[in-house]
Amino acid sequence: MIDIQNLSVVFGEVDNRVVAVDRVSLSVRAGESFGLVGESGSGKSTILRAVAGLVSSAHGTISIEGRPLGHKRDKGFYAQVQMVFQDPFGSLHPKHTIDRILTEPLVVHGIADREAKVRAVLDQVQLGPTFRFRYPHQLSGGQRQRIAIARALILNPRVILLDEPTSALDVSIQAEILNLLDDIRTQLGVTYLLVSHDLGVVAHMCDRFAVMRQGKLVEVAESKDLSSGALAHAYSRQLLLASKGYDRAVIDAFADV
Ligand code: ADP
Ligand code: MG
Repeated sequence: MIDIQNLSVVFGEVDNRVVAVDRVSLSVRAGESFGLVGESGSGKSTILRAVAGLVSSAHGTISIEGRPLGHKRDKGFYAQVQMVFQDPFGSLHPKHTIDRILTEPLVVHGIADREAKVRAVLDQVQLGPTFRFRYPHQLSGGQRQRIAIARALILNPRVILLDEPTSALDVSIQAEILNLLDDIRTQLGVTYLLVSHDLGVVAHMCDRFAVMRQGKLVEVAESKDLSSGALAHAYSRQLLLASKGYDRAVIDAFADV
């Protein structure tokens, strides 16, 4: 469904040059949930943004269902591939009602039956129809993220790119949103490419995941193998250790990999 070959992204010039993504290749199967995990600044978001066409300096080949993407993404692309960002407050227009936020993609794509579709998608994210007439600031963080997910779903995409979809939420709400995302994938068979700095989240949500470090892909592993300690690289094992929470023993065990 998603094939990335030799993706590199460089920001800035000479002195402040940052290689955000360094020759990364990976493929995601149809219906799979694939994770990108790694510490802050390792290039995870940049990979997602490159797939979404939001990075102008990307080199390499990105294909969706076998078709290589050009430099500009067309309307058809956004009907097929949608993105959910970390901060649901920043990603929803503060002066638009939920109804308008959810209707807009339908208008852009010339899709009829809008009210029914908005009601259906609100139902899908387990919010009642009365939410249509609220503004983003009248919702809780978790409810706002449900709206961001609804907006991503409303065009019936095949792929959803999720960038730390629960990192801005309280721990108790995080699990609710992760379970919702899990249910949606089971029901609709959509493909996820999910970014998280938290290996626990990725292990719960993803079939396979790639470990990123300083723009490079360290390894691809299967979540089901995590418990048997099948991670090949010392850096990945350290990340696993860190995801279990910090105590003195964990910190002492940290090596300079
Ligand atoms: P992650 O999502 O893993 O935390 P990012 O992909 O956001 O990491 O960032 C990777 C690297 O690229 C970081 O060093 C970051 O500072 C840099 N970077 C990201 N976006 C930009 C940008 N628009 N301009 C310059 N540097 C950027
Ligand atoms: Mg990021």
